[in-house]
Amino acid sequence: MLCKDFFVVMFLKNIIVSVTPYVNYYLSAELLNELYVRNGKGIANIIVWILILNFAMAILKDFAEIIYNKRTVYLNSQEAYVLCNKVLNLSLEMIESNEIRQKRKRIVETSKIDNNGRGAFIYSIDSVERGIFNLVFACLLAIEMFNELIKSGVYKSLILFILLNIFSIIIYVKFNRIKEMRNNRLANEISNYMVKENQLDDAIDYQQLGKDIRIYGLDNFIIALKEHVLECHKKSFSQYQKKKIKIESWGVVIYFILQIISYVFVGLWTMQKVIKIGSLLKYIGLVQGMINAIMMIIHGLGRLKGNKQFLKEYTDFLDLKSESQTGNLNVPEGDFFLEFQNVSFRYKGSEEYVIKDVSFSVKKGEHIALVGVNGSGKTTLIKLLCRFYQPTKGRICLNNVDIGKIDYKEYVKLISPVFQGFELLPFLISENIAMSNEYDINKVNECMKKALLDEVFLRNNLPEKKYLYKEFAPEGVNVSKGEAQKLAIARALYKDGEIFVLDEPTASLDSLSEIEIYKQFHKGQKNKNVFFITHRLSSTVFCDRIIVLRNGSIVEMGTHDELINSYGEYSKLWKAQAQYYVEQ
Ligand code: ADP
Repeated sequence: MLCKDFFVVMFLKNIIVSVTPYVNYYLSAELLNELYVRNGKGIANIIVWILILNFAMAILKDFAEIIYNKRTVYLNSQEAYVLCNKVLNLSLEMIESNEIRQKRKRIVETSKIDNNGRGAFIYSIDSVERGIFNLVFACLLAIEMFNELIKSGVYKSLILFILLNIFSIIIYVKFNRIKEMRNNRLANEISNYMVKENQLDDAIDYQQLGKDIRIYGLDNFIIALKEHVLECHKKSFSQYQKKKIKIESWGVVIYFILQIISYVFVGLWTMQKVIKIGSLLKYIGLVQGMINAIMMIIHGLGRLKGNKQFLKEYTDFLDLKSESQTGNLNVPEGDFFLEFQNVSFRYKGSEEYVIKDVSFSVKKGEHIALVGVNGSGKTTLIKLLCRFYQPTKGRICLNNVDIGKIDYKEYVKLISPVFQGFELLPFLISENIAMSNEYDINKVNECMKKALLDEVFLRNNLPEKKYLYKEFAPEGVNVSKGEAQKLAIARALYKDGEIFVLDEPTASLDSLSEIEIYKQFHKGQKNKNVFFITHRLSSTVFCDRIIVLRNGSIVEMGTHDELINSYGEYSKLWKAQAQYYVEQ
């Protein structure tokens, strides 16, 4: 529950808001009856009551609405927090899934149309609740009217009055159902276009594509795509508005007819002196109050039903569970022994296995190089180790415990990664290294030095003063790709997990920095497990073991010397690179 007392506050607000008009109907009828029917002596008394109650009700109503609005703002902020938290806690597999991304976008986009989803649910409950209170208060005060009518024996007109009202309300129910169905269909259609538009914006990152847009002249192509989606969106939106106005005007007509019925009948009964003249306005108010209340209930229930699909989409998203982020065992103690046991894996929605029956083990302190041509499965293997995905077959064990059964948060503390597509954040440099706003600045500086960041980054307390990029600070610094990669390396060093995974960690570094970084890792992380994915085979020479992958399977495994002497895939790759350098 996002805000525990929300419905209690809504309940109290609705009682106060609903009772207010009826207090006035009652007292103004008393006033008129005192003037025209009784002797008029109690007028002063009634006026005092009208003033006191009106004042008290107005204050109470304002107070209730202020508290309700405050709780609504709190509820909205809680919702934003819960949605953000949900996304942060989904597995990478789920975040990458187009289906889940679409689900999330639909929740956002459908909520922009008539607040569908959580907003419409609250609105419907509010509407039904207010309707019920209004109906109860109106009925309580109308007992007197029905008593007077029954006593006077105007059965025929009373029955006709009731039948006409029932008939109009039945038409309203039918109309409301059609309205909800149409609105839903159109809301679905529009939100689909809105999701597409949103996806297009996501896919075309104008800043990232800045260079290509300008050089390849992509602007016309992008504009044409955007225009097409916007045109479809515009068309279905104007259709939605037209139909909405048309159908809503039918609601106004029915309401108008119901009003006429109440004026005609109550007026007639007053003329026949069945009803006291002073009560005329009160009874018209009560009859209309009853009709309004019934319409509010019907509208609320209709909205509740129509919104069911959107609410389900919303709750389904909140109920999503990450399969790979479960587990409750402690990290096993003792020296680490990692084992891939017949691991096979295929991505969701794909038939093809990209990792096929991979088995190997790694002792504490071993440094492993994963080598192979593009698409051979190196990154996927590392992602499985990071528990971004679960193996489709087989298992990965740490000291004989399936890593999938270890508490996720505890397990990932073991991993210090430099991913190929690492991201730096527009926060302080120090925060980027520590990945937190709490850090040990000496350790930050030390890791930056180890990652070979230029002295200028370390002078004058820069890591603690300077922001990266300009999003949150106009004076923020932009860094080169190589510098960014060094910051990512410093980040992994700062985390200092037991298992380092470095996916092409030096792809953007100059040759001297590259060799220096590899040397540092081999010397500095002697007691840690390090997995290097690299195409620069000179760096594999220092590794304890090299695993060569092809099409998701291990084709060779051994030390550099062993593999060179076996004249297999590794030897071919090595010779090809050596030849390239010689020819240079
Ligand atoms: P490498 O790191 O050796 O270049 P990858 O592990 O990145 O190879 O990719 C192995 C195969 O898995 C490739 O054929 C690639 O197309 C596929 N692949 C990678 N990521 C995904 C993904 N998120 N969804 C579906 N297929 C993927």
